[in-house]
Amino acid sequence: MTDDGGDRLTTDGRLTTDARWRARARKVIPGGLYGHQNVASLPGGYPQFMSSGLGAHVWDVDGNEYIDLMCSYGPVLLGHRHPRVDAAAARQAAEGDCQNGPSPRIVELAEAMTATVEHADWAIFSKNGTDATTQCVTIARAATGRRKILVATGAYHGALPWCTPGPSGVLPEDRAHLVEFRFNDLSSVEAAMDAAGDDVAGIVVSPIRHDVGVDLELPDPAFAAGLRSLCDRSGAVLILDDVRCGLRLHHGSSWEPIGVEPDLSAWSKAIANGYALGAVLGRDSLADAARSIFTTGSFWFAAVSMAASLATLEVLEEQDTVGRTVKIGTLLRQGLSEQASVRGIDVSLSGPVQMPFMTFAGDQDFALADVFARRAVLGGVYLHPRHNWFVSGAMDEADVDKVLQVTDTAFDDVAAAAS
Ligand code: PMP
Repeated sequence: MTDDGGDRLTTDGRLTTDARWRARARKVIPGGLYGHQNVASLPGGYPQFMSSGLGAHVWDVDGNEYIDLMCSYGPVLLGHRHPRVDAAAARQAAEGDCQNGPSPRIVELAEAMTATVEHADWAIFSKNGTDATTQCVTIARAATGRRKILVATGAYHGALPWCTPGPSGVLPEDRAHLVEFRFNDLSSVEAAMDAAGDDVAGIVVSPIRHDVGVDLELPDPAFAAGLRSLCDRSGAVLILDDVRCGLRLHHGSSWEPIGVEPDLSAWSKAIANGYALGAVLGRDSLADAARSIFTTGSFWFAAVSMAASLATLEVLEEQDTVGRTVKIGTLLRQGLSEQASVRGIDVSLSGPVQMPFMTFAGDQDFALADVFARRAVLGGVYLHPRHNWFVSGAMDEADVDKVLQVTDTAFDDVAAAAS
């Protein structure tokens, strides 16, 4: 493969398979592709269409292999096609997936998730993170009879009109009852509370600040505890959006290690290791409100992803995936930091080590990040210049060595581009 910065060419000048699929997509899918898979949000030279994955490795439709540092933007935690998860899913698929009623897996999974997550007494399931965050907001409003929802500026909670970052097609009315605060700034939450008066139904917050395109920020424990007491004092519902971090940072809710329990939490991505599943977990005190809302979907009771999730939870517990990804993520961060510093390149490496992100000081419009990412992908390392990366439990020390060999060259490119 060569890098032509746009539709890619093979070494002998023919269009790649990926480029041919892109051309077909442009004719029948608006924009070629949508959302975060929109071609415009990938640096030039990136493959769009993928064919397979195994463990910590993925292959694009041209057969190029990559060490995967994006994990499908979060869902893949144990590695692609994990044998135990896939076997559980296949067993369930052989019995039935989408049926007239749920399979008993839904009860087993509610039992397993409430046993895993401290604040949880009950669970409801859906398909995506947006389903879960939206259900949390609806339950909070049903429970309190209030309207206002406090959200952090720049945070991503999904792609429905109430939360999508794109303004097109969204009415002011859709967002009329959102009040913004700044992550890790308790006084801004107090000000938002004051502005909303006695009408605050809930506060939605992610465990860490992981807005796209900015350095990740860990939570100040005093901020998290402050949110808890503001909710306790006002009767508002504390909603933790654990969609991206859930099960990656802790085998339970991501704020358990800092001792703060939400009333509701939203989950998806990693809970079924790549199978489509969303979940809301909640306290007993909100069970009546959860029962009162009408929420459903044709595919929400499908059993295969639930069987996959049960297997995922078992493997996570047995294999200490959090510990393993922290070890691997630490090696990766140390290596990147050394490579940048020997060249005098000023980088910021942020986030938990298993959800790393790197930015370059003074990098206008991510120009240097794009140079770095493009060289990485050409060398067989799949990462993203603007979105945080993910380390999977399938990645080992040899993979980190290979990643660092490639990033060594990528830093040379950045040094050349910056000079
Ligand atoms: N919340 C957070 C924190 C997320 O990262 C995402 C997805 N990136 C969502 C909600 C929405 O999840 P989904 O794309 O599955 O609807």
